[in-house]
Amino acid sequence: MKDLHKSALDSNISELIMCQNEVDLAIKSLHCWMKDESVSTNLFTKLSSAFIRKEPYGVVLIIAPWNYPLNLTLVPLVGALAAGNCVVLKPSEVSKNMEQFLAKVLPRYLDQSTFTVMLGGPEETTQLLENRFDYILFTGSPHVGKIIMTAAAKHLTPVTLELGGKNPCYVDDDCNPQTVANRVIWFRCLNAGQTCVAPDYILCSREMQDRLVPAMQSAITRFYGDDPKSSPDLGRIINQKHFKRLQGLLDCGRVAIGGQSDETELYIAPTVLVDVQETEPVMQEEIFGPILPIMNVQGPDEAVDFIRRREKPLALYAFSNDSEVVDQMLQQTSSGSFAGNEGFAFLTLPSLPLGGIGNSGMGRYHGKFSFDTFSHYRSCVLANPGLEKLNDIRYPPYSERKKQFITWALGFQNCTLL
Ligand code: NAD
Repeated sequence: MKDLHKSALDSNISELIMCQNEVDLAIKSLHCWMKDESVSTNLFTKLSSAFIRKEPYGVVLIIAPWNYPLNLTLVPLVGALAAGNCVVLKPSEVSKNMEQFLAKVLPRYLDQSTFTVMLGGPEETTQLLENRFDYILFTGSPHVGKIIMTAAAKHLTPVTLELGGKNPCYVDDDCNPQTVANRVIWFRCLNAGQTCVAPDYILCSREMQDRLVPAMQSAITRFYGDDPKSSPDLGRIINQKHFKRLQGLLDCGRVAIGGQSDETELYIAPTVLVDVQETEPVMQEEIFGPILPIMNVQGPDEAVDFIRRREKPLALYAFSNDSEVVDQMLQQTSSGSFAGNEGFAFLTLPSLPLGGIGNSGMGRYHGKFSFDTFSHYRSCVLANPGLEKLNDIRYPPYSERKKQFITWALGFQNCTLL
């Protein structure tokens, strides 16, 4: 509430419950996740046991952003600790109340020999990155992601980069505009639009736009009342810098809904922009606020073209009553996540990985994916120290018979002959 004016329910849905679910799942499943995994053998290794051992990397650095300052700090922490690592946790200095809270409260509940919380911004993080870590998970912007990866490269430290970008949302002509408006507006306005996976812009025909705009107005009024500023359910922009940036974006295209702002309260009204040009700033940068531009395309083919001309997004949404259209969007595009006729729901499933592709990141986590991300999969073979006679066949000198046998034995998987 102090950092982002989040309502209690918003905080519960998007921060607390997700952390709690991750903790519960890790505690319940850890004995399974960490078991050695037996793998098949060939004739050469038939008398040995072959398996994968899940080992911790060592010391993991987790760098978090400010928009979900509890979730994006603790959910990776759960995975890293579950996998047996020690953790240096670097919350965002921008959500300063949560930063202080984590530094104060976490040591009360967790074994202090397994983690530490480092406070500070870019300068302190730059110094921190001079140290050698065994793994780094970074959540933040693609720009800083490149800085992190460069620093990690000096030590050949593996990284998971959870980045952002512009998430397209295609709305087909064959749709119920009110249903789409409800689902999109809710997700776009959650946390005042400061959500990495929120729909960043709409792609639809001019005809659908004419039906969608009144439906969006109706959804905004229904959710936040006639004066959204006084709604307890609408968040605020994190700080002056981001407020100013968003205020600048309100000049793009034409305001169809909203457009109001109040600097003293860091308030930006839920806003829909139409007649936007591709070259305008609102279509060039990640919006990260409650502003939703609509771009016009003729149909799914043009939408696919539009999307494929850009960086691969973190999330992609398609709304249509026609499952073939949804399937086309899924088949012909690429993104970290995809949701058909839905917005937020996929995030609530720890059974699905969260992660980007290309400019929106690399690697994944959540649930078992977190455990796997923070575990080194060590290949192990344990052979019998005796039975040397059986090995004779592989040593030189190589007769024609030996060569044939070795070639055959190496290609022979899951053999039960011996
Ligand atoms: P940011 O990249 O500015 O900062 C993220 C972290 O990096 C912070 O802890 C900050 O202290 C640190 N940092 C900033 N500049 C640095 C530098 N020069 N050197 C070293 N460390 C530095 O991102 P942000 O503004 O906190 O968050 C918004 C961005 O994060 C958006 O792009 C959003 O899409 C993305 N995001 C992605 C996900 C995801 O799961 N993929 C989730 C949330 C946010």
